[in-house]
Amino acid sequence: MRERVHVREVGPRDGIQMVGTILSSERKLSWCRGAVAAGLRDIEVTSFVPAKVVPQFVDAEDVARGAMTIAGLRPSALVPNLRGAERAFSLGIPLVNYVLSASEAHNLANVRRTTDESMADFVRIVAARDAHPGPRIALGAGIATSFGCTIAGAVSEVRVVELAEQYAAAGADEIIVADTVGYADPGQVRRLMGKVVAAVGKLPVLCHFHDTRGLGLANVVAALEAGVRAFDASLAGLGGCPFAPGATGNINTEDTVYLLEQLGFDTGADVEALVTLRREVESWLPGERFSGAIARAGLPKTYRPRLGAAA
Ligand code: ZN
Repeated sequence: MRERVHVREVGPRDGIQMVGTILSSERKLSWCRGAVAAGLRDIEVTSFVPAKVVPQFVDAEDVARGAMTIAGLRPSALVPNLRGAERAFSLGIPLVNYVLSASEAHNLANVRRTTDESMADFVRIVAARDAHPGPRIALGAGIATSFGCTIAGAVSEVRVVELAEQYAAAGADEIIVADTVGYADPGQVRRLMGKVVAAVGKLPVLCHFHDTRGLGLANVVAALEAGVRAFDASLAGLGGCPFAPGATGNINTEDTVYLLEQLGFDTGADVEALVTLRREVESWLPGERFSGAIARAGLPKTYRPRLGAAA
């Protein structure tokens, strides 16, 4: 039986937060339905940020509500603060992902608070979650700029591990370690993720990589070696970095699934169905930059998808 590796589609959130086109709620939900039909069960569907900060997410409530009606989907949403978390909780979305930055300078620039203040906010979010009636909502706990920062440069590994431990102690259900700006390299990933998994390994640990400098899939392999079994990825490699205009975005979903299946892991996903969905999403986003090797070259004849072989 093959081991399961979870690929979470973040295109409808990270992928489109910077694009020039505001997608309709119906298209965002159509993207989610297509991804589920292609075998992906986890999708970060929106972000509860103020619409004046990211206009793309003005319809966060509608998208979250719609996503919760899609059979087979476990939708999640990103929240930057307690206010966003309360919006998500009121809808009962099953997984809410919070994020703070390991880089103090990045955190101050993003949310005008220190990292410790943001951690204190997470503690309040856990309390709000615990007080919320209805089915228990899981909390993902993200650490942005874990591998480096465009403002501060190097980020302390000790600090990243400390934040993961604080999150675990506060009541996080999973830890998300993010290379927000595409600085990570495989040696660094193997080293840091080994430490994070050792520190909080009773919780699922997920990596969020950007392919800004071409090392995204190499970093996936390094994280697998460190024991990570869940990854964020974006269809068509959408998700360009505001600090590196023109650069590639999140690691590409189709290529990540291809890599994992070739390594013998079970993702549950169908690469060809993902490529078909990608073509449709591309047609909605004129002028955007798309990336991905499988969409260009196709699958090799030696590819042996073994869908449904594992639980
Ligand atoms: Zn990202």
